[in-house]
Amino acid sequence: MDTADLHLHSDRSDGVWPAARVVHAAKTAGLRAIALTDHDTLAGVRTARDEGERCGVEVLSGVEVSTWDGADRHVLGYGFDPDDPALTDLFERARSARLSRAAAIVEKLAALGKPIPLDSVLAEAGEGAVGRPHVARAMLRAGHVGSFREAFDVYLGDGKPAWAEKLRVAPADAVRLLHAAGGVAVAAHPGCYGGPEAVDALLDCGLDGVEAWHSLHDPEMTRRLEEYAAEHDLLVTGGSDFHGPGPGAGVGSVRVPYARVEELRERVDDRRAARRGGTS
Ligand code: AMP
Ligand code: FE
Ligand code: FE
Ligand code: ZN
Repeated sequence: MDTADLHLHSDRSDGVWPAARVVHAAKTAGLRAIALTDHDTLAGVRTARDEGERCGVEVLSGVEVSTWDGADRHVLGYGFDPDDPALTDLFERARSARLSRAAAIVEKLAALGKPIPLDSVLAEAGEGAVGRPHVARAMLRAGHVGSFREAFDVYLGDGKPAWAEKLRVAPADAVRLLHAAGGVAVAAHPGCYGGPEAVDALLDCGLDGVEAWHSLHDPEMTRRLEEYAAEHDLLVTGGSDFHGPGPGAGVGSVRVPYARVEELRERVDDRRAARRGGTS
């Protein structure tokens, strides 16, 4: 059966592999379609698409937007125009806010007696949007912590002493921008936020779908989310949330039937038609 993995990260955000390598891994895993869904950046989308064309993997434009409505809520976007100015502008602003935030985290770490050069953090991030995982890797390299996990547990995790705020839009704004860019919006891994109830607040924003299949969802959670999607006439998507090789979820370790991609495309077409008609 043709399948798709619609949640993958590259080194353009906090993944380890370059976008092209993720696409190759998808080909090797026998996937027909994928979406690269880096956090708050579209930087890898074009490379992924070009590489997908070369090696015969369908690549949808994708992104994972960090939103905030009193709690973290990731929103996945699919099928939008990757050159859309408003969307591009949002991610540019988020990116520069991330730079000042990395500097703030480094300052807090210095005050805690764990100094690391900001440059070492930026080097970990490379071309990607700098984030806490890069700080954690720099701390590990400097010998301040014994593991990546310890860096989050003791310093960088939510509410820990070196945590710092990043720019986050309201879920409604993310959905609106994705729609305006001709795409669809999907609630990412609701199981990580307590389950289907966490999606309720997004329904009024015009949410299009729910990520029912995810490496952190057990079968019961997936079942509940599929039921919820059916009740609310939402699309169902799924993916591994691959970040890199190692113990985590591999490319294609979570996959959905290709029919889900076709449904996604139909919804994208509907949104585009509505936009042309000026009704959305
Ligand atoms: P940031 O966008 O910079 O806030 O970093 C978010 C990323 O950090 C997430 O996508 C995870 O990859 C990682 N992360 C967040 N919290 C933890 C944690 N408690 N333990 C390990 N990794 C985490
Ligand atoms: Fe991530
Ligand atoms: Fe996420
Ligand atoms: Zn993700």
